[in-house]
Amino acid sequence: MKKLTIVIDGPAGAGKSTVSQRLAKRLHYLYLDTGALYRAIALAAHEKNIPPTDFQEIRWLCQRTSILFKKEKGKQKVYLNRKDVTRAIRTPHMSLLASRYSKLPVVRKGLLWHQRHLGEQGGIVAEGRDLGTVVFPKAELKFFLVASLKERAKRRYLELKRTDKKSSLKNVEKEIQKRDREDRQRALAPLKKAKDAIEIDTTWMTIDQVVEEMYKKFQDKIHENYCS
Ligand code: C5P
Repeated sequence: MKKLTIVIDGPAGAGKSTVSQRLAKRLHYLYLDTGALYRAIALAAHEKNIPPTDFQEIRWLCQRTSILFKKEKGKQKVYLNRKDVTRAIRTPHMSLLASRYSKLPVVRKGLLWHQRHLGEQGGIVAEGRDLGTVVFPKAELKFFLVASLKERAKRRYLELKRTDKKSSLKNVEKEIQKRDREDRQRALAPLKKAKDAIEIDTTWMTIDQVVEEMYKKFQDKIHENYCS
């Protein structure tokens, strides 16, 4: 059976990561977290004190940086130049820096081939912001997840609270709002729903319900492909 390319875009906290991983597991597909790529580049630039204005150095950095995903004990780990940065890239500060560096054409260009290379065989569930519009415009199945700002902030806050006792709901809400604005308003590959994407509002849905709805759409698509 032909393996599909499935993309899941949407703003921060809409539930993309959890449902993408679950869907990938259910289908035995590869899971690709493209946000982690942008976060890793932002961390690399931050550690080397390269400001977003130094395009030349950032270009070099993108060319020389290795970012790998490895599954360990059922959990996906992110390695930046062989160092485990799974936790380090998830702080609120890194979220904002990722958004700032991801605006740069050199960074987007540098990561574009990387993402396409990982997805070229199909059989992938990839999550991000511009996957349905720019990275995989021909993906067979596209989703765009949304949820109210309050709900998204609550989810992110509960997630962060496990590792950062100092985070407050109000600050998380502000950070998400700021990041959404930057992601939507940037000139290159902004956060945008692809015309052929299926929108799902997850505000009042459980994770299982969202995955189930996606799985149904997947079955419809397979049926469509084989019966047409
Ligand atoms: O998805 P996540 O919250 O980890 O993404 C972090 C940041 O990386 C986003 O706010 C966005 O600026 C950037 N990003 C992007 N394009 C993607 C995925 C993430 O610009 N495909």
